Amino acid sequence: MNLLIVGGVAGGASAAARARRLSETAHIVLFERGPDVSFANCGLPYYVGGEIAERAKLLVTTPDRLRSRFNLDVRIRSSVEAIDRTAKAVRVRELTTGREYEEPYDKLILAPGATPLRPPIPGIDLPGIFTLKNLTDVDRIKDRVDQGIRQAVVVGAGFIGLELVENFTRQGIATTVVELQDQVLPPFDKEMTTPILETLLAKSVTVLLGQSAEGFEQAGKGLLVRLKSGEKLPAQLVILGVGVRPENQLAVAAGLAVGPRGGIRVNEFLQTTDPDIYAVGDAIEVKDFVSGDPTQVPLAGPANRQGRIAADNVFGRAVRYRGTQGTAIVGVFDKTAAMTGASEKVLRRSHRPFRKIYIHPTHHAGYYPGAVEMSLKLIFDPQSGRILGAQAVGGAGVDKRIDVLAAAIQASLTVYDLEEMELAYAPQYGSAKDPINMAGFVAGGLLRGDHPQIDVESVLAAPAAEQPFLLDVRTPQEFASGHISGAVNIPVDDLRPRLGELPRERKIAAYCQVGQRGYLATRILMQTGSSTANVGGGYKTYKLFQPPN
Ligand code: FAD
Repeated sequence: MNLLIVGGVAGGASAAARARRLSETAHIVLFERGPDVSFANCGLPYYVGGEIAERAKLLVTTPDRLRSRFNLDVRIRSSVEAIDRTAKAVRVRELTTGREYEEPYDKLILAPGATPLRPPIPGIDLPGIFTLKNLTDVDRIKDRVDQGIRQAVVVGAGFIGLELVENFTRQGIATTVVELQDQVLPPFDKEMTTPILETLLAKSVTVLLGQSAEGFEQAGKGLLVRLKSGEKLPAQLVILGVGVRPENQLAVAAGLAVGPRGGIRVNEFLQTTDPDIYAVGDAIEVKDFVSGDPTQVPLAGPANRQGRIAADNVFGRAVRYRGTQGTAIVGVFDKTAAMTGASEKVLRRSHRPFRKIYIHPTHHAGYYPGAVEMSLKLIFDPQSGRILGAQAVGGAGVDKRIDVLAAAIQASLTVYDLEEMELAYAPQYGSAKDPINMAGFVAGGLLRGDHPQIDVESVLAAPAAEQPFLLDVRTPQEFASGHISGAVNIPVDDLRPRLGELPRERKIAAYCQVGQRGYLATRILMQTGSSTANVGGGYKTYKLFQPPN
């Protein structure tokens, strides 16, 4: 068996190592255009900031190690230029010598990744404007940073963009992030990004939302970034973090099918439209695990798993790739944001019915020192209760809850299953009722009808004539330190003797800080015959919908 693999990083290196474990006799060639294989793309921003001090640590393995341990024929600085499907051979160009040659294959795995976008705007090719994809890029960026630059502009507030913003700021560089959308971290629902925005501002990062870079000009030794607003930002370093496009040229030229956004089409066995050619990683179109729709998700976990699965299939194991659910996490200074499955905005766009709840628990028992609060949003099917998506933002413990919910989505669990989940508990790690259980209780209660809930946005958006009576059931001190405009304060403990103060004819929307006292108040009022709903997630959820300007 002659197995050729194009691309020697996440998907390609995984496929190669797995292939060798499955066959000692196959001739496995790994072609990589760059000088390195299997490097840690995900660590690159932290090398810029100095958190990862040694460049060598970014090399997960080396060509020599792949040769000695896995007996792979690793050819770096070798670009695969074309696929001849009839002859079953690829044309390779050695970038150091310019020599070209043909290499025959029985099976071919494409793992060429994705290329960062460089939008065609004036001045885009000026020196000092970078994208970040590999070690060559990171060396150039770090070189600039080490020259002692004072101002940087990051275009795009996605995952990589914000990781760089943090690392520049830690180096004392005044950093501005420019984002076209009206929120940072566009894959998240906007309200869940409010704590991240607050953190960026608290760290003196300038965040320009709803803005775009329209051009770049040389200004002395530095640059000016011209914005849509006309404003010009000075910078000695500009990073473009505006997305990636699949490296599909080889596939397209070979007549393999690609999707509307360019991802190479594969079946559930990761075979392209040519059964002898597989494709994996950022270059492919995948099935969205929740919706079943085709999508593109450039993440390391899926790329690694797909590499392994493609190798399994090459050697006859018939393993299916289940789809990608987009489980992702990012650290921004002391905050963590993570998500899995469908977001509310994606569900709205596809008109899929859903319900959602918010909770704001601490990551471990509140009485144990060091408890950190998180906000957790759970999105689920209104009929079956099947979990469709989850997002969380906070500090410690966010990763664990999103990972549990990611597993729950994989297993098609429902909110009722979350109520029953038995998770590890001691006070320094969690709570006897873990945030996962709490999310299940709130969502399960809602679906059972125990607990009518009204979303904060519905309260805020209701026309004046339909505005519910807003009842704040927190303490007067809490009320005084901030409340939803128009609310009336009756603490939950005083509610029973003060029922007469409530209007009989109006719907009541009760809220507290996080939803629990609002729930109690709702139960009390419902039993007096009032039409009452709890404002989901309480005042803290309301605050998520009030990002700083
Ligand atoms: P890559 O890992 O990009 O590898 C593709 C390789 O193929 C490249 O080295 C390229 O040179 C080579 N190649 C392409 N065409 C040819 C050709 N014709 N001939 C020879 N070689 C070719 N994901 C996460 O899940 N979490 C993170 O925290 C995270 N952080 C990231 C941070 C940064 C800065 C970057 C750039 C990415 C990050 N990612 C992260 C994304 C993750 O790295 C990618 O999803 C993953 O590497 C994709 O794997 P891949 O094998 O498809 O492509």
